[in-house]
Amino acid sequence: MADEGTAITNEVIDLLQHLIRNECVNDGALGSGHENRNVDTLAQYLGETGLETELYEPQPGRESLLTKIEGSDPEAPTLLLMGHTDVVPVNPSGWSRDPFGADVDDGFVWGRGAVDMLNLTASMAVAFRRLARSGFKPRGTLAYLAVADEEALGTWGAKWLTEHEPDAIVADYVLTESGGFQIPSPNGPRLPVMVEEKGTYWSQLTVRGTPGHASQPFRTDNALVTAAEVVRRLADYRPPARLSETWRTYVERMHFPPELSKGLLDPGGFDEFLETLPVGLARLAHSCTHTTFAPTVAHGGTKTNIIPDSVELQVDIRTLPGQTSEETRAMLLDAIGDLIDHVEIESNDDPSTESPRDTALWDVLGRASGRLCEGSALVPFIMTGGTDNRFFRRAGSVGYGFGLFSRRLRFEDYAAMFHGNDERVDQESLRLSTELWLAVAEDLLT
Ligand SMILES: [Zn+2]
Repeated sequence: MADEGTAITNEVIDLLQHLIRNECVNDGALGSGHENRNVDTLAQYLGETGLETELYEPQPGRESLLTKIEGSDPEAPTLLLMGHTDVVPVNPSGWSRDPFGADVDDGFVWGRGAVDMLNLTASMAVAFRRLARSGFKPRGTLAYLAVADEEALGTWGAKWLTEHEPDAIVADYVLTESGGFQIPSPNGPRLPVMVEEKGTYWSQLTVRGTPGHASQPFRTDNALVTAAEVVRRLADYRPPARLSETWRTYVERMHFPPELSKGLLDPGGFDEFLETLPVGLARLAHSCTHTTFAPTVAHGGTKTNIIPDSVELQVDIRTLPGQTSEETRAMLLDAIGDLIDHVEIESNDDPSTESPRDTALWDVLGRASGRLCEGSALVPFIMTGGTDNRFFRRAGSVGYGFGLFSRRLRFEDYAAMFHGNDERVDQESLRLSTELWLAVAEDLLT
C-alpha cells in the first residue's frame, strides 16, 4: 500500500510538472491561454488507456478534452471530474522561484497553477487512467473533462461546452475546484465542500458632468468630484447580513468556541460582531453573508485644465443565492442615492448557483474523505468567487467544489497563493486528492 501511494505521488508530480511548464497563461485575451498545450500533454498521457478522447476547439488553441469510461447501466448516476487547464498571469518579481519551472523542493511542487487548479486537473487524470487501466467496469459513467478558459469566465471552455455540446458533457454529478483544505476543529479536521457560489453583477457606472475651464472651478458640475462621492457611497454601503442555511450549518458544524458561534449566528448583531474579529476571518464571514460592492476601476478626465464631463467606474458586485437582478439593482440605486441623475448604469447579471446537500455524492465524499483523513467530516461552504460549476448547476447537475489537502497546506496559505506569489502544493496533498477520486468513483459508480 505504501508503494502504491508512492507510485501515485510520483505519477501526479510528473504530470503536474508538465502542465505547469506548458505555461497556459490566460490573460483574458482571445489569443492567450494556449490550452491546446496542456490538452496535448493530457491526450498523450491518457492515450495509453485505449479510450476515445474528444477534443473541442471553438477558437484556435482554446482546446478542451473529454474522455469517458462508459457505464453498463443507463439508470446509474454519472460523475464528471472536471479540471481547468489554464492559469492566471504571474509577476515573476514577486516569486522566489521560476513560476513555470515546476521545481520540487522539500516535498512541494512550485509553480503557477499548483493550487489553482492544475493539482486537481492532474490528480483527476491520474485517477482516471488508473481506473481505466485496471479494467474498471462501473455501472454509472465516469467522465474526465479538462477545460480551457476558466480564468476568463469560461467563455471558450465550460460555458461553450454546456451551450454547444450539452449531450456530451451531461452528468448527474460534477466535481471541480475548490475546497477540502483541513480546518482544525475540536472534533477533528473539517473539510469544506463548496455547495454554493456567489453571483456577479459587474456594473459600469458612467458619471456625467459639464465641461469647463479648470481655472474657474467655483460651482462647476465636475464629473470627477461627483464620481468620488459615488465611490465613497458604494464603499460605505451596508446591505443587511443574510445568514443562509449553508452558513448556519457551516458555523454549527465547525464547533467554534461558544462566543464565536453565537456572534456568527446572530443576524441582529452580526455586523457589529464582525468588527471584533481578526480581519481575515471578518472579511470571509462578511462576504459569505452579504451582497458586496467593490469599486475597482476609475477612468476620467482628459487634461489638467479641463473640468471633466465624464468618468467611468467599474464596480465588482457579488450577489447571494436566490437574489434577483431587480433586488441587486435596487441596492445599487439605494447606494448611489440622490446622485442617480448624474449616473448611467450598465450591469451584467450572472446569478449565484447552489446545489443541495442531501445527495449520494455528499455521502460518498464524506465516506471517502473520512477514510483518507482520519476523524474528518465535511462542512458545507460558500465560494465567494466563481468557478465552472455554475454552468453545470444551471444545466441540472449537482456540482461541488472539493479536493483534499494535507495538513501541510493551511487554509491561510492556500488562500494567499490563489492567484498570488509562490504558489506551491505538497506531494501529500497530490496523493490524497488522487486517492479521493479513486475512492469516490468506486463508491458512487459501482
Ligand atoms: Zn481555478
